[in-house]
Amino acid sequence: MRIDIISVVPELLEGPFSASILQRAQEKGLAEVIVHNLRDYSIQKQKSVDDYAFGGGAGMVLSIEPIDRCIKALKAERNYDEVIYMSPDGDQFSQAMANNLSLKQNLILLAGHYKGVDERVREHLITKEISIGDYVLSGGELAAAVIADAVIRLIPGVLNDETSALSDSFQDHLLAPPVYTRPAEYNGWEVPDLLRSGNLKAIDIWRHEQSIERTKNKRPDLYKKYSN
Ligand code: SAH
Repeated sequence: MRIDIISVVPELLEGPFSASILQRAQEKGLAEVIVHNLRDYSIQKQKSVDDYAFGGGAGMVLSIEPIDRCIKALKAERNYDEVIYMSPDGDQFSQAMANNLSLKQNLILLAGHYKGVDERVREHLITKEISIGDYVLSGGELAAAVIADAVIRLIPGVLNDETSALSDSFQDHLLAPPVYTRPAEYNGWEVPDLLRSGNLKAIDIWRHEQSIERTKNKRPDLYKKYSN
């Protein structure tokens, strides 16, 4: 899978993809994340990519021209399954969406900045809009990193233990059960005996019950979906 992220602050995306699981996914050739500096597509003298909003008001708006030029240049090289604009008013990101996007080949994620992008970008150049939650970030970069992370870890071979992504929270509308590691006793606080019994079948059942209990208590809304 290849993910192209378009940004005016590409420095913000240097960290997330150069360590741990996301770095390894790229080293193994399972995912490729390429960050494009929107300024490289500006034809203005000062490499500017934004302008004042028509009609006035505070805040700059990202112009359509450099965005169009960047998307066109990418599309000339390969086909894209989706061109996604990160936006607080987009469809709310979920595990189901991550599962779905992880099956795609090529994605473009467009990070906005300032007041956002010229509306015509959204009308004509974008195929999908995603929000990572009901709050406003200063730019779409961190949102794009969230999407890329959630999607890339689902690609087969990225996680060492293949089954591990399947037992995460939200798959099957259930939250993950509690986990423990050594020492078996700390400050008098003990790990449940059953987990140390070696009885894998009983452990599986216990974990499933814990998942259900946890979902019921912490997320009654999810539990409703599970039990339906
Ligand atoms: N004026 C806009 C917010 C602009 S914030 C509004 O009120 O809707 C600047 C950029 O940050 C946006 O263009 C978008 O790309 C990104 N962004 C902010 N919050 C986001 C969220 N919750 N999810 C995804 N992207 C977000």
